[in-house]
Amino acid sequence: MGKLSGHRALVTGAGGGIGRAVALRLAEMGAEVFALSKTAAHLDSLKVECPGINTVCVDLSNWTETREAVKKITPIHLLVNNAGCSILAPFLEATPESFDQLFNVNVKAVMNVSQVVAGDLVARKLKGAVVNVSSLAGQRALNNHTIYCSTKGALDMMTKVMALELGPKGIRVNAVAPTVVMTEMGRMAWSDPVKSAPMMSRTPLGRFAEEIDVVNAVLYLLSEESDMVNGHMLAVDGGYLAV
Ligand code: NAP
Repeated sequence: MGKLSGHRALVTGAGGGIGRAVALRLAEMGAEVFALSKTAAHLDSLKVECPGINTVCVDLSNWTETREAVKKITPIHLLVNNAGCSILAPFLEATPESFDQLFNVNVKAVMNVSQVVAGDLVARKLKGAVVNVSSLAGQRALNNHTIYCSTKGALDMMTKVMALELGPKGIRVNAVAPTVVMTEMGRMAWSDPVKSAPMMSRTPLGRFAEEIDVVNAVLYLLSEESDMVNGHMLAVDGGYLAV
């Protein structure tokens, strides 16, 4: 019996990157895992890697379809709002289409999924924990990241208000704020050494984060070891935000 047996967990954006690593670790620990993502092929390969994981294929930018899909898998005791996307552009060239896409997935979908999951837990009088995957971009300005930084700043405040309102109902809500992780998203934004070198050199630990660093922080915030932690932003950044 794993430490999390008896717990049902939902991880969004679990087709790749950080979300996939979180989903696999939760399954290893005995949770019944629901991996939500938008690309069926990515979920199929996750299922091959870990047949015990349940998959949910839905585009989080579709409010109604997402709501219906998440309703079907309740109750969810542990929720990781990890899915996110990024489109980079100089401030003067940022488009309204990119604005809507990023805010829909990075912020509005977190409200949507969490409303369904937390509303159901409250109705059943069950406790739960939510972790939102934010970014140090929510707290520091990064070149060409106008919209992405803004979504993560909004997500940080949503995390606090969720913690305020859901805490009294037995649902803790926290966030992690990773530095660069070389996932598909990380490679898109940071593969150019001209951009990554100054970021790395400002990091006291002298490296970017690995997926496992983020997984460990998420697992802590989901676990009973963090029972008194609510509304917190746990930086997984090697000290970047401290400087
Ligand atoms: P990634 O490798 O690009 O993976 C993102 C995942 O989110 C993918 O599995 C993707 O789905 C899913 N996704 C995106 N849009 C979706 C939508 N509309 N509906 C459903 N699923 C959707 O990114 P990552 O680096 O692992 O990022 C995970 C989280 O960490 C994000 O919130 C990101 O902002 C945050 N973060 C990343 C970094 C970094 O440097 N990588 C740093 C700080 C914070 P499919 O695979 O199904 O297409």
